[in-house]
Amino acid sequence: MEIKKILTKAPKAKPDESSLGFGRYFTDHMFIMDYTRGKGWHDARIVPYGPLEMDPATMCFHYAQETFEGMKAYRREDDGSIVLFRPMENIRRLNRSDERLCIPYIPEEDALQAIKELVAVDADWVPHSYETSLYIRPFVIATDVGVGVHPSDTYKFIIILSPVGAYYAEGVNPVKIYVEDEYSRASAGGTGFTKAAANYAISLAAQEKAAKLGYSQVLWLDGAERKYVEEVGTMNVFFKINGEVITPALGGSILPGITRKSTIELLKYWDVPVSERRISIAEVMEAADNGTLEEVFGTGTAAVISPVGELCYEGRHITISDFKIGELTQKIYDTLTGIQWGRIEDPFGWIVKI
Ligand SMILES: *Cc1c(COP(=O)(O)O)cnc(C)c1O
Repeated sequence: MEIKKILTKAPKAKPDESSLGFGRYFTDHMFIMDYTRGKGWHDARIVPYGPLEMDPATMCFHYAQETFEGMKAYRREDDGSIVLFRPMENIRRLNRSDERLCIPYIPEEDALQAIKELVAVDADWVPHSYETSLYIRPFVIATDVGVGVHPSDTYKFIIILSPVGAYYAEGVNPVKIYVEDEYSRASAGGTGFTKAAANYAISLAAQEKAAKLGYSQVLWLDGAERKYVEEVGTMNVFFKINGEVITPALGGSILPGITRKSTIELLKYWDVPVSERRISIAEVMEAADNGTLEEVFGTGTAAVISPVGELCYEGRHITISDFKIGELTQKIYDTLTGIQWGRIEDPFGWIVKI
C-alpha cells in the first residue's frame, strides 16, 4: 500500500511529560483511508492532525456504526527504539468488531503499515519518561450521508496518536470496585466482544453511579441474570482463589483483551493453574468469606494490570489482600511492563519494532 504523506508546516509544542495524563494531547499527524463500496479502501494518507468536516446527516453520528482499537507504542529503556506490543492482535480484533457492525474488512498488513508509518512520522512524540507511552487510537466511522438505517457504503479508517503519562505515577494502587447489579454492559448475541463505540456510551450511567458512591469502576455481571462475573470497567477481570487463577470464559459478551490473553499465556508459561470458565459473584463472595480469595485484578492496555482492593456487592464490603497489590498480580505487572519497555527479554515474540 502506498501512503501519501503531507507533513505539517506548523508542528505543535510538545506537552510537559510529567503532566500528560491520558488522552488529552494529540500529535502533529493522523492517518486517513477511505472506503467506497465497489472500489474498496483507497487514498491512504498521513496528513496534519486537525478537524474533520462532515455533513450533520453523516451516519456515524446517528446509529453508531463505529468501531475502535486501543494500543500503545513504547520507547525502550535500553536503546530508545520504539516498539509495539502484539499489534496484529489489535488489527484482527478490529476486523472482528467491524464484521459484527457490517463494516468492510481492512487488509491486516495495510493496517499494520499505517500504524507503523504514522508512529514513525510522529516518533518525536513517543515520550521518554518512565512508563509513559504513545497511545494509538485507530477507528472506523460510517460516512454515508442520510438517516436511513442500513450499513453505509462509505467509511473512513482513521488513526490518531496521544502521548500518555505513567498510569501509576505513585506506584500500583488497588482500586475500589462496585458490583453493578442493575445495569448491564452486554448480552448474548450482542456486541460485547467488540470495541463498538456504542458499548461505551451504554456503560457510562453505571460508571457515574459507582463514582458517586466513591468507587473507581464497576464489576459487570451477565446481562441475563446478573449472576456471573463478566468484566471490570473496561478491563478483563481475574480472581486468584485457593492458588488457582480464574477469568470469565469468552462467550460473546466479553471483550477478548490482549492483556487478558497475554496474562493467561504468562501464567501457563509459569505453570500457575489458570482456567477460563463461568464464575458467579456468589462464588467470589464465598471465597472472600472462607479466606480463599487471594487476589483480584483487572487487565487492559491502559493500566496493564489494576489490582482490586475492595468489592462492594449488595451493600457488603470485602477487602482483598489487605488492600495491597498481590504477589502474583505484581509479578504479572512487572513482567508485562518489563517486556513492553524492554527491561526484560521477550521470550514470546510479542514485541514488534517500528
Ligand atoms: C479494550 C477493552 C479491554 C481490554 O483489552 P486490551 O486488549 O487488554 O486492552 C477489556 N474490556 C473492554 C470492555 C475493553 O473495551
